Amino acid sequence: MKDGLIKVLFAASEAAPFAKVGGLADVAGSLPAALADRFGVDARIILPNYSSVAGSGYELKRISESYTATIGKKSYTASIWEICDYKIPVYLVDCPELFHREGIYGPDPASGYRDNLERFTLFSQAVMRVAGGSGWSPDIIHCNDWQTGLIPAYLRMEREKHGSALQGAGCLLTIHNLAFQGDFPKSKIKVTGIDRKLFPWERIDFYGKLNLLKLGILSADRLNTVSSTYREETLAGGETGAGLEDELRVRGEDYSGILNGIEYGDWPPVNHRYVEVSEGGSLAEYKAANKRALFELCGFDLELLDAPVIGMVGRLTYQKGMDIMLEVLEELMERGFLMVALGSGEEKLRARLSEFEEKYRGRLKVDFSFNEPLAHLIYAGSDFFLMPSRYEPCGLTQMIAMRNGTAPVVSDRGGLKDSVSEFDPGAGSGTGFRFEELTPDGLLRVMDKALEVYGNAELWDKLRENAAAADFSWERSAERYLELYREISMGFGSR
Ligand code: ADP
Repeated sequence: MKDGLIKVLFAASEAAPFAKVGGLADVAGSLPAALADRFGVDARIILPNYSSVAGSGYELKRISESYTATIGKKSYTASIWEICDYKIPVYLVDCPELFHREGIYGPDPASGYRDNLERFTLFSQAVMRVAGGSGWSPDIIHCNDWQTGLIPAYLRMEREKHGSALQGAGCLLTIHNLAFQGDFPKSKIKVTGIDRKLFPWERIDFYGKLNLLKLGILSADRLNTVSSTYREETLAGGETGAGLEDELRVRGEDYSGILNGIEYGDWPPVNHRYVEVSEGGSLAEYKAANKRALFELCGFDLELLDAPVIGMVGRLTYQKGMDIMLEVLEELMERGFLMVALGSGEEKLRARLSEFEEKYRGRLKVDFSFNEPLAHLIYAGSDFFLMPSRYEPCGLTQMIAMRNGTAPVVSDRGGLKDSVSEFDPGAGSGTGFRFEELTPDGLLRVMDKALEVYGNAELWDKLRENAAAADFSWERSAERYLELYREISMGFGSR
């Protein structure tokens, strides 16, 4: 680290706007840029060169010769590319055989590619190659989730080597969702090339399987997850601990919780591509224009414009509590709510949603595609944003909804607890509604409470104003990452 300028290589399996499946992409696309912008960190992103990257509209240039990567018994041709003209440097690991595919993790959201271990082993080794190359060398490699779980182990191996360029480099692993762990058969350990003396099987065994997240947790210099409450929940074990609570407990104070931020443009978001805006207009006008646009897009009856609309954007999974919502959907419709739900996910949930859409045509719209314009119109045009998540490491969608003056109704879990404050009609404070009891009854009760506030124009305006004024920009959280980087760096003396 020279002149206090810290160099960070941010390794992630997705980063917006180049490749996106969920919240990790939002964070990887915005946190390194916020660190560079606000604190002068020399932050660079590295991700695989999926087919989607070419479609993002940026020019790409190759910056390395082709090389042969031997992963297990197979050899692949790979090279390193760079994206031109993004806010900060973005490196791409190019390996057409492994990454030029339609999907990021699998052919569809429910299944992974059979060669995911080979794919992310090649990616992780390429990250080490870039980090240890002759040009730029990072002080910190910031890893994210299981796809990068091998990197902390490789770094430990590298630091054992005399004269390695990475001898002084440190490593942070951020856990965005402990439930996704990268489990593979024990027999596949050879594929990874990890040093079996440094990492004997007894240490890394996870119920008879190789588990890349566990390996990362054991070997990273520091760990964090994306909210304080989720950190506590994971340490408490149970469903949220996902079998890794003991490994996390062992890390003690090395494991911290930092709430994610979102990218904030100006308000109203005049430059936004997808939503209706009138410069200088009020929040109420912004909401009204977008609600109308949402109605038109969904084919809803315009006579119902005064009815409360619930928006949902997110993976249709057990984690997100979609099944709990489905249990009460008919009752919500009876109470006069309209709903727009966008998300890809489980077939069973999709089938039930489609049945309901048929029944409530004109008042319920579902869409199972990955559709960014619709997502933004839902954030901007809905009245409520519903997230009955069973667990939620951070959740970004409730923050985006609030930014758009949409009141979140969320379970009292993880990052939802840390980002949504309960609306108090007496004090006029708070940004949304939280519910503790994750049952159909609990959900109906909170929706009734929300409906009451919706029916009182003054309170409703106040709630929307509070939600839109809440600040989830990266400012505070980026500074905490910077502190972590510094602590890690100091742990290794001067470089
Ligand atoms: P996750 O657990 O999936 O990472 P987050 O709330 O952290 O959930 O982030 C989800 C991100 O993905 C948000 O930016 C959201 O707008 C986006 N998203 C999720 N599903 C869809 C979809 N079907 N179409 C468009 N965007 C989506």
